[in-house]
Amino acid sequence: MTVVRFKGNMTFKDVVAFHGHSCPGLAMGYRMAIAALKRMSEIRAPDEEIVVIVENNACGVDAVQCLTGATMGKGNLIFKDYGKQIYTFYSRNSKKAFRVTLNSSAVPNTIKENRDEYMAWLLDAPEEDLITVTETSIEEPQYAERRPSVRCAFCGELVMDTRTVQKGDKVACIPCATGGVSSGS
Ligand SMILES: [Zn+2]
Ligand SMILES: [Zn+2]
Repeated sequence: MTVVRFKGNMTFKDVVAFHGHSCPGLAMGYRMAIAALKRMSEIRAPDEEIVVIVENNACGVDAVQCLTGATMGKGNLIFKDYGKQIYTFYSRNSKKAFRVTLNSSAVPNTIKENRDEYMAWLLDAPEEDLITVTETSIEEPQYAERRPSVRCAFCGELVMDTRTVQKGDKVACIPCATGGVSSGS
């Protein structure tokens, strides 16, 4: 495995390049991820050293992925569809977990009307006013599953063996078993 590191943290500009546009949500995720890394004394995880539980799938999550290296592709980003802008960061090195929330009451009401001003304000606001980091305790998350693939008897596509469904005496992938959408049909 070759590890490629950024020098220091990814900048907000780097994160915007990944996300595709700059926006207040991205700025919030950026500040929250930086606060968590500092508190954990961690840098971007090359592998699964950091696990992040995200409670939304909005813009801020892209900043969290960029900064922490907890990504959908490595399996160390856990998505809970709760619609909350809250992230829990777990360090496998220290076994510590931190729940990070944004103090929305710190945001001046008038500033939200102008997106660019709001974003600039979010990037500059003192961390202690904007963000709360609370140590919490969670069970150590499992490592990403690495499982062999088997062939679906219906569409012929390969599927991870823990994601198969028995259909009669045959092994089916989930879309073939449930009539869901598959690119093959
Ligand atoms: Zn966005
Ligand atoms: Zn199938």
